[in-house]
Amino acid sequence: MSPLSVNLFDTAQGEFDHVAEMLHLEPGMRQLLREPLREYHFLIPVHMDDGSVQVFKGFRVQHNDARGPAKGGIRFHPHESIDMLRALAMWMTWKCALMDLPLGGGKGGVICDPHNLSQREVEQICRGWVRQLARNVGPAQDVPAPDVMTNSQYMLWMLDEYEAIHGVRAPGFITGKPVGMGGSLGRVEATGFGVIHVLNEALKGLGVSPKKAAASVQGFGNVARHAIQKFNELGGAVTCVSCWNNQDKTSYAFRKNGGIVLEDMLDVANGFGDVDPEKMRALGYDVLPGDEWIAQEVDVLIPAALENQIHEGNVGNIHSRVKIIIEAANGPTTPEADAVLRANGMMVIPDFLANAGGVTCSYFEQVQSNTNFYWKKSKVLELVEARMIAAYKEVAQLAREQNLYMRDTAYMIAIRRVANAVKSRGWV
Ligand code: NAD
Repeated sequence: MSPLSVNLFDTAQGEFDHVAEMLHLEPGMRQLLREPLREYHFLIPVHMDDGSVQVFKGFRVQHNDARGPAKGGIRFHPHESIDMLRALAMWMTWKCALMDLPLGGGKGGVICDPHNLSQREVEQICRGWVRQLARNVGPAQDVPAPDVMTNSQYMLWMLDEYEAIHGVRAPGFITGKPVGMGGSLGRVEATGFGVIHVLNEALKGLGVSPKKAAASVQGFGNVARHAIQKFNELGGAVTCVSCWNNQDKTSYAFRKNGGIVLEDMLDVANGFGDVDPEKMRALGYDVLPGDEWIAQEVDVLIPAALENQIHEGNVGNIHSRVKIIIEAANGPTTPEADAVLRANGMMVIPDFLANAGGVTCSYFEQVQSNTNFYWKKSKVLELVEARMIAAYKEVAQLAREQNLYMRDTAYMIAIRRVANAVKSRGWV
């Protein structure tokens, strides 16, 4: 089976079923939590710049809101699918619960490729998405955010449409807004920095100094570049980065002994985090096939691009020096690859812990927007760091005490919290 054909919702449900069994959850609870509570499917017609009309498919999934309003990003991707969004919405529920945020889980998307759309066309898609959902989302119902190939400008268009429909100012409707327009300082950095705060704790636990550690990263988008920045600040070297090149629709890995220079790649990357291999070659980097990021002789692998990237076909290529895989992307490891890693005793820090800095900061953005009072960047980032470290320590301690795989442990904590909320509301 090709890794791209792995159905992410099957993965998410499989992981849930496994832990529901460990927790002896009752049948009604399992039935409720293994499916989304609600989902919306709709069409967004757009008058394109060439005068034609193109109809885009949009979705919103609200997996569970027992602990608070649903929260989750909106993805614009040509291969978007409802099962992908169901999986990601479910993971948002567990992520918010694991971080002990008073929020549920949601995810949305549109099947489209912003690479091939003008700004005006993208704006129409953003506004169309909100027009279809304005009554089903909002500060007290479901709070969207940016995700793959969406950004703060898109969020502001969406907020503007929401406010126009409801005739109010409601900055708490959406997060990831531009700073000065209801956005929080620190949101851009929060996910990538959070990955490294967790990694730093894990390295400490293994007695490894980040100054002596090398990492290989897949992706060079928002998450990856801030993770690289923070890892470099701690003294770690990122020796290989793999990214997409949209011109020839191929991924390449860029390698430099001693570590890549972040500024080199920032200069070459376009707004989507895509990097031109010829420009990197000219800067003295080895240019390798994209999948080579996984085979590097490093201490840490950081998948920070897409789902299903560590799979049956390449899990065997991981170098014996690798001690930690920290899942910065959502769902980067297929169940088959996960079984191999688990059997080999690899430390895998699961996505819904590793990349929770983003939603944690989004929660702080909501708090600021709802109170209309904005905090300093240092305060936001300190609060995110403290939450990330506390959540990691809780998971690591339980995993150590009960000799459990970290993914199972994180699930146990999160699912228990959601099940308790469902139970105390009397739903099951
Ligand atoms: P992004 O769109 O900014 O960046 C994606 C990167 O992946 C780009 O650099 C692109 O070149 C690269 N890429 C795409 N296909 C590739 C391939 N086949 N091989 C190598 N690289 C490839 O996205 P992002 O916001 O950085 O998100 C990355 C991941 O992290 C996603 O799984 C997302 O769901 C997850 N995530 C993001 C946030 C956030 O705050 N942005 C929060 C939590 C989780």
